[in-house]
Amino acid sequence: MQSLNKLFYPIKCLTCDQLVEFVYGLCPTCWGESHFIDGGCCDMCATSLIGESQAGDLCDDCLTKPRPWARAAALMVYRGNAKSIVMRLKHSDRTDLAYPVGEWLANSAKPIVEHDTVAVPVPIHWLRGYWRRYNQSILLSKRLSKVLEIDHCPNLLVRKRATRKLDGMSASERRETVAGAISFRGQKAKRVKGRHVLLVDDVLTTGATLTECTNACLAAGARKVSVAVLARVAKKN
Ligand SMILES: [Zn+2]
Ligand SMILES: [Zn+2]
Repeated sequence: MQSLNKLFYPIKCLTCDQLVEFVYGLCPTCWGESHFIDGGCCDMCATSLIGESQAGDLCDDCLTKPRPWARAAALMVYRGNAKSIVMRLKHSDRTDLAYPVGEWLANSAKPIVEHDTVAVPVPIHWLRGYWRRYNQSILLSKRLSKVLEIDHCPNLLVRKRATRKLDGMSASERRETVAGAISFRGQKAKRVKGRHVLLVDDVLTTGATLTECTNACLAAGARKVSVAVLARVAKKN
């Protein structure tokens, strides 16, 4: 039946026009350019580590200045096809991508999930949500929580004020820009009180936004916060 369907509805690669064998598959070229992370990264910020590494290893930055969250999992390095996936999901109305990609992210995040984990997406300001009509992080956390069979609390966090786009800013500029921009909804706090929160976002760059979100979750009573992101921007050396 699938081959008959393929005759009438050829299956395209997730990110290009190449025909592929399976629904939600990547063609060999896009697969090769996707830079999936498979070990060898910092346990706390998911940046790639040079040389041999073991589970639990941290990068120099996290050793010097630990993050407020406990652990991070990332699916891909933010370059090549990972950029294309994030851009399509975020700006091209390709909300359908959240289905397969959210499942892949769930697999990456599985090792850091605990018995009481609740998934919480990073919020966008309501005005940005109005124009974009959706928050890609909610789509991802919804799919991830379903695959991992964990609780989902999509509206715990709120962006109190709109911030400028952080692209191109330095780490300190990003920190200043998002400082105090995120808080939690008091009536939702009981959903995370005493529990492990898994923050879900599309990209981790310097971690300024995720730091604000972590602090808001801890203020809401979470016992611990971890992070799951689609793509980790490689640090400049
Ligand atoms: Zn392709
Ligand atoms: Zn690190």
